[in-house]
Amino acid sequence: MNLKYMPYSMLGSLLLLEILSLTTADSVWPWAILSHQTLGLRILGWYLVAQLGLVTLAYMVMRAMPDKPCPICYKDLKAYIPVYGAPAMCSRCRTIFHKNCFKSKSRCPVCFPEAEEETGIGLDFTKDLPSD
Ligand SMILES: [Zn+2]
Ligand SMILES: [Zn+2]
Repeated sequence: MNLKYMPYSMLGSLLLLEILSLTTADSVWPWAILSHQTLGLRILGWYLVAQLGLVTLAYMVMRAMPDKPCPICYKDLKAYIPVYGAPAMCSRCRTIFHKNCFKSKSRCPVCFPEAEEETGIGLDFTKDLPSD
């Protein structure tokens, strides 16, 4: 989810809770729905609260996250989330990069730097020889 739209999502969940409480529980408090005698409404209320909690948590994590470049595409981690996917963390070195960048690379560039054999036909010894 885009960081920009998270506050709207949070507001939307709250608003929905408020409306539900107003219309079904006759209360101005959005949490009145959570103790409603109808089970379905209680479930709906808790579902909205859980969603609100999750989005709030994700929002806080994203905000607290340092805005540094992704080690794979070298672009801003937070700013390029819509393009390169949500941030993912390497379980070995705890480096953070975009999910899609990691997928296209299929390995962590910090734990496994570019290996020589991947560039082609083994090692080229001739380049170190004097040219004359
Ligand atoms: Zn990236
Ligand atoms: Zn790593």
